[in-house]
Amino acid sequence: MPSSEIAPVQTVRLMHRKNFFGRSAGWNRVAWDYVGYMHQVRRPQDGDSVYHWVGDCAVCSNPPTYRVYSVAATKRVLKIWNTAGGVTLLLGLGAIALGIWGPVDRGGFWIGGGVGAVFLGLMVIGLAEDYFGFIGPGIWSSGHPVHRLLLPDKTED
Ligand SMILES: [Zn+2]
Repeated sequence: MPSSEIAPVQTVRLMHRKNFFGRSAGWNRVAWDYVGYMHQVRRPQDGDSVYHWVGDCAVCSNPPTYRVYSVAATKRVLKIWNTAGGVTLLLGLGAIALGIWGPVDRGGFWIGGGVGAVFLGLMVIGLAEDYFGFIGPGIWSSGHPVHRLLLPDKTED
C-alpha cells in the first residue's frame, strides 16, 4: 500500500462474519458474508510504545484486540519489507539468469533456487501490501475468520 494512506488517525473497517456456515454461491463455491463498521483509531505518537486497541465490534461481545503502531514505525516496517522483498526478488531473477546463461555448473540448481527466491520476494511484498501498522486477528488471515480488519477501500478478498 502507498504509505500516504497511513494516517495519525487511521480509519479502519472492522468486519464481523455473519454466517457460521458458508452459503452456497454456485457450483463448488462457498461465500461468506461480513458486516463492517468504520472506526477512527488514533495511533501512538512517533517514538511512543505500541497502543492496544480493542475493536468495538457491533455484532458480538468478543471484541478483537489489535496492536497499533505509530506512523513512523509502520513506514519503517514497510520500507524494510519492501526492500527485503525487492532484493530477494532481484537475487532470484539473477540466479535464474545465471542458471540459464551463466558459466555455472548445475544450472538447474540455480534456476530452482532463483524461482524459490522470486516467490519468497513476491510473498514478502504481498504481505507488505496488506500491512498498515495494525497487528491482530483478521489482518493477513487466509480463509474466513470471524473478524477482519481492513482499510476502508480494501475489499474482503
Ligand atoms: Zn465480532
